[in-house]
Amino acid sequence: MNIIFALIDCNSFYASCERIFRPDLKNKPVVILSNNDGCVVALTKEAKELGVRRGSPYFKIEKSILDKLSVFSSNYSLYGDISHRVMNILSEFSPEMEIYSIDEAFLELAGMDIDRTEYAKTIRAKVMKDTGIPVSVGIAGTKTLAKLANNIAKKYPKCEGVLDLTTVKDIDACLEKVPVEDVWGIGRLNTIKLTRKNIKTAKDLKNMPDGWIKTNMGGVTGLRTVLELRGQPCIDMDSVAEPKKSIVSSRSFGERVADLNGLKEAVTGYISNAAAKLRQQNSLASALSVFIYTDRFKDDEPQYNGSMTYKLPYPTSSSLELTEYGLNLLERIYKKGFRYKKAGVLLDGIVPAGSVQYNLFTPDRFDPAVDNVLDSINKKWGDNTLFIASAGIKKKWSMRREFVSPHYTTDWNELLKIKI
Ligand SMILES: [Mg+2]
Repeated sequence: MNIIFALIDCNSFYASCERIFRPDLKNKPVVILSNNDGCVVALTKEAKELGVRRGSPYFKIEKSILDKLSVFSSNYSLYGDISHRVMNILSEFSPEMEIYSIDEAFLELAGMDIDRTEYAKTIRAKVMKDTGIPVSVGIAGTKTLAKLANNIAKKYPKCEGVLDLTTVKDIDACLEKVPVEDVWGIGRLNTIKLTRKNIKTAKDLKNMPDGWIKTNMGGVTGLRTVLELRGQPCIDMDSVAEPKKSIVSSRSFGERVADLNGLKEAVTGYISNAAAKLRQQNSLASALSVFIYTDRFKDDEPQYNGSMTYKLPYPTSSSLELTEYGLNLLERIYKKGFRYKKAGVLLDGIVPAGSVQYNLFTPDRFDPAVDNVLDSINKKWGDNTLFIASAGIKKKWSMRREFVSPHYTTDWNELLKIKI
């Protein structure tokens, strides 16, 4: 079966959130600062044109430039709330939505009888009208190509924010326009390697031989990216190893969940998953959101969606600590009498682990040894060998996977048995 993904990505998301309430800042340079106003974490293209870069320390920005900038401290509760509103609108446009980060989601569009470019324009207009956030839409047969289409849609005003690659005859001409470092999952280290080899654009990368990619770009992971550029879908989003500015962990349930306990189990699991990713990239989160959705394609059922963001007292990556806050948020947004289809968590305000200073008044934190044990056991024996008890044991809500093949290589109970 054909798959077609639309990637919807908000333009300069944090800055756009600030602009909702400050329309006078439209087309003006805006920057957002990290915790304690340390560094630039987000900026508009106008600010980029002045020479400001993501990651620049605030105090190092020259006075002459500073005078032209509108500067905001990060407001994670606002961004979390606006994100939820945007995602809620997007969920109207396809029964299959994967929220990928605070400001990006994939919609599955295959099998829908629509003019996709027109549909994408409707999505843009609806999000703009209801939230004031500008978005771009990239459409293609693989997620990597959808990302790339989005990148082009953003850069070239001619596209008016939408590019459907499935209607483009000469895809190579598009790939040629995209620098290799902008390809999803390539990252900085790979870029250095690739540039040395004179591989500069997505097109150059696509044409490299499989063997070379495997040896030089992290084996199968690199190869998947290249296959996707060639139009062969093979990426499960969890497997894209790029350091993220926000981390989302969310799934649709196999069966609808109505009771709070079922949701608690799911949310605990998602938090553990997101926190482990956070620790893997050696960073901490400054804010945590939890969200729950009913199935809006079930017209005959009552609909509700809830979300709440908590700005953490200090950045952390502790599974136990995040679980405690997360379950608290869930209790506050949960409403009885609805059948939920999806839940998820979002970690935002992600900063490098070494960059945070705690002070005398920082309350006692959970012992990082607990997380070290969690990570090392799960690394050795497989995901979720050791887990937090509130994640539940039976997991009735778990993803529907009736046709999955046995986990021959990752589960002791499913090892291949041979009779001799
Ligand atoms: Mg964005």
